[in-house]
Amino acid sequence: MLKIENLHAEIDGKPILKGLTLEVNAGQVHAIMGPNGAGKSTLGYVLGGRPGYEVTEGSVTFDGVDLLELEPNERAAAGLFLGFQYPVEIPGVSNVQFLRESLNAQRGQRDEKPLSGGEFLKLARAQADGLGLNQDMLKRPVNVGFSGGEKKRNEMVQMGILNPKFAILDETDSGLDIDALRIVGDGINRIMRAPDKAVLLITHYQRLLDYVQPDRVHVLADGRIVRSGGPELALELEREGYAGVEGAAA
Ligand code: ADP
Ligand code: MG
Ligand code: MG
Repeated sequence: MLKIENLHAEIDGKPILKGLTLEVNAGQVHAIMGPNGAGKSTLGYVLGGRPGYEVTEGSVTFDGVDLLELEPNERAAAGLFLGFQYPVEIPGVSNVQFLRESLNAQRGQRDEKPLSGGEFLKLARAQADGLGLNQDMLKRPVNVGFSGGEKKRNEMVQMGILNPKFAILDETDSGLDIDALRIVGDGINRIMRAPDKAVLLITHYQRLLDYVQPDRVHVLADGRIVRSGGPELALELEREGYAGVEGAAA
C-alpha cells in the first residue's frame, strides 16, 4: 500500500532523511520508534506534503501512485491522514466547521456528494462519543484551550470522520492518561484495523502498542531505518534502550 524507497529529504538544506526504505501492506500496523531528532516527525511531514520539506532522492508510492507528485489536499483525498505530534490550534474556526469543510472537500475531490449539516452532525457526534470527547467540544474553536489529551482525542475524532485508508499517527499517545490511552487505542483499532487500511504509528512507548498491536516495529535513527522486527522488538527497546541498536546509539 505504501512503498518508500531510499527516501532522502532536507529542511533548509539540512539533510534529515538519509535513505529511508519502508513498505507497509494493507491490513498492517507498523510502529516506528527511535531517538529524539531521528527524523520520525519529518517522515510524517514529508508523506503529508508539508511545504519546506524537500525530497532530494528516492520515491514514495501509495496504492501504486507517485505520492510525491500530489498536493497535500490530493494526498488527503487519496486517503492519507496525518495525526500531528503537536495538534494546531485554530482560533475562530469551530471544530464542526473545520471537520465538515475537510470532509466535504475530500468528498468533492472523489466526486462524492457533500454531507448535509444534519448528516454530518450525526457522524461527528458518533465519533466524539466513541472517543469520549464531550459534545460541546465540537462547537469550540479547533483545539483552542483543549488539554493535551483532548487535542489527541480530537485528532482521533477527525480521523474517524475522514475515515482514511492510511494513517500516520505521530506520538498520538503522548500526554494521555491511562484511561485516555485505552480510549485512543480502541479508537485506532475501531477506525483503522481493516484489511484495506494501514497505520504507521510513531511512538516512544510500548504502552500504546499493548492496545494497538503492531505487525512490524522499526527503529528510525539518523534518517533511516536501522532495525526492524516483530512486536517483541518494542519490548526489547523499552528494556534496553537504543544503546544496543547499531547506528542508533546517542
Ligand atoms: P523526531 O520526530 O524523530 O524527534 P524530527 O523529525 O522532529 O525528529 O527532527 C529531525 C531533525 O530535524 C532534528 O535534528 C530537528 O532539529 C531537525 N529539524 C526539524 N525541523 C527543522 C527545521 N524547520 N529547520 C531545521 N532543522 C529542523
Ligand atoms: Mg521527538
Ligand atoms: Mg517527532
